[in-house]
Amino acid sequence: MLAGLAAAPAISPMRAAWAGAARRSPIPEPTGVLITRWRQDPFALGSYSFLGRGAQPADRVALGEPVGRTLFFAGEAANRRYPGTVHGAYLSGQQAAEHLAETGARSVAIVGAGIAGLRAAQILAGHGVRCTILEARNRIGGRIWTNRALGPPIDLGASWIHGTRGNPLTRLADEAGAEIEETDFEAYRLYDQAGRILRWSETPESFRDVVEIEHLYGADLADLSDDAVEEGEGFGGSEVIFPGGYDQLFAVLDSPCELRPASPVTAIAYDDDGVALTVSGGRVSADAALVTVPLGVLKAGSIAFAPALPARKRAAVARLGMGLLNKVCLRFDRMFWDREAVWIGYVGPERGRFAAWLNLAPFVGQPVLVAFNSGRAAAAIEAMRDDAILAEAMAVLGAMYGAG
Ligand SMILES: Cc1cc2nc3c(=O)[nH]c(=O)nc-3n(C[C@H](O)[C@H](O)[C@H](O)COP(=O)(O)OP(=O)(O)OC[C@H]3O[C@@H](n4cnc5c(N)ncnc54)[C@H](O)[C@@H]3O)c2cc1C
Repeated sequence: MLAGLAAAPAISPMRAAWAGAARRSPIPEPTGVLITRWRQDPFALGSYSFLGRGAQPADRVALGEPVGRTLFFAGEAANRRYPGTVHGAYLSGQQAAEHLAETGARSVAIVGAGIAGLRAAQILAGHGVRCTILEARNRIGGRIWTNRALGPPIDLGASWIHGTRGNPLTRLADEAGAEIEETDFEAYRLYDQAGRILRWSETPESFRDVVEIEHLYGADLADLSDDAVEEGEGFGGSEVIFPGGYDQLFAVLDSPCELRPASPVTAIAYDDDGVALTVSGGRVSADAALVTVPLGVLKAGSIAFAPALPARKRAAVARLGMGLLNKVCLRFDRMFWDREAVWIGYVGPERGRFAAWLNLAPFVGQPVLVAFNSGRAAAAIEAMRDDAILAEAMAVLGAMYGAG
C-alpha cells in the first residue's frame, strides 16, 4: 500500500536571505531552512485540538460518536482520554474500526491516511472488511511528516512519543525496528535578549506559560478553557523522539486496503443503506464511511455532509479549538550553540516568539536547530514571508550567540 507515493514536497526550502542583525554576528548562515505553516495547510488547518473556552471534554465524545450505522468518526480530536497526540489518534482509529466491524459493514471508505485512518484500515482488514482509503495529499501520515530535504530526517509534524510506558506506539516502534531516544527536558540553557544566561527562576511567568503550557496545546492561555490542562490522561515513562524519523512507524501500519492518494473528499451523502463520497469529481460508494480528517477541516466545512451532521456534533466541532504549533528548522555547516543543551530557551521582548529551540544535533548527528512557535505568535509568524521569518529566527540566534 505504501509503495508508489511521491515524496512530500519540501515546504519553503531556501537559501539564507537574511540580513541585518545576523550580518553583524559571527554566527554562520544556515545552509538549509524548512518552515511549516500548519494553519494554512488546507488538509490540517492547524496542528492539534485543544479545549477552548466554552468547550467540554464531552465535546470530544460527541465528535467521535457515529451518526446512525454508516457514518463513523475518528482522529486525535475525538479521543477524550488522549487528545492532541499520535497515540490518541491511533487508539481512536482502532476503536472506531472495531465498533464499525461490529455493524457488519462489508465495505468501508476511510477518509484520511493519517495514523488514525491507517490503524483503522488494519483493524478493518483483519475483520475481512474491504477498505478504500481516500487521502487528499500525495503522501500518507497527515500530521506525522518526516522531511529529508535538509539531509537528516526532520519531523515537521509530531516528534515525540509522549510517555513510553504502556503506550501502543512504543510497541509499534519496536516492531518497526525504529530507534527511539529520550529527550532530557532538564538539559536546557536559557538566554535573554542581551545574550545573558538565565536561571529558570529568573524567567518571567509568561515565558514559563508559553513553553510549559501553550506549546503543549498550541494555544494561548487566554484561549484555553480552565479545564484544558486537566483534560485527558498520559502514559508514564520517557518522552522520546525518533532520530530516524517518525515515519518509520508506517512500515508496520501497512494493510491490504486500497490507498488512493491525491483524492480529497468534498462531500459525503449517507443513509441507513450506505454512503456515497464525492472525490475529485468522481464518486465512491461503500456500506459505511470512517472520517478521520483533522478537526480544522471539519470546522472549515470542507466536507459537505448530506444530511447535515446532528446539532450535537456540529456544536462540538464549533466549540473545540484547533491549535497551532509551527517549526522553523535550520541546518548549519557547524554547531555554534550549546552542545550539551537539548533545549535552548529565549526570553525575548515579544511574548512567545521563538521562545523554544530544540537542538537536534545530538539525535541526528548534524548541526540542526528547530525553533517552536505556538498559538497567536505562531499565527502571526505564519502570516509572514519566508525571508522575514528567517530574518527573525537569525536575529534571535544572533541575540543569544552573536557575541561569540
Ligand atoms: C507541529 C506538530 C507537532 C506535533 N507534535 C506531536 C508530538 O510530538 N507528539 C504527539 O503525540 N503528537 C504530536 N502532534 C499531534 C499529532 O501529529 C496528531 O495528533 C496526529 O498525527 C493526528 O493523527 P490523525 O490521524 O488524527 O490526523 P492526521 O494525521 O491529520 O490525518 C488526517 C488525514 O486526513 C487527510 N485529509 C484532510 N482532509 C481531507 C479530505 N477532505 N479528504 C481526504 N483526506 C483528507 C489529511 O491529509 C491527513 O492525512 C503534533 C502535530 C503537529 C502539527
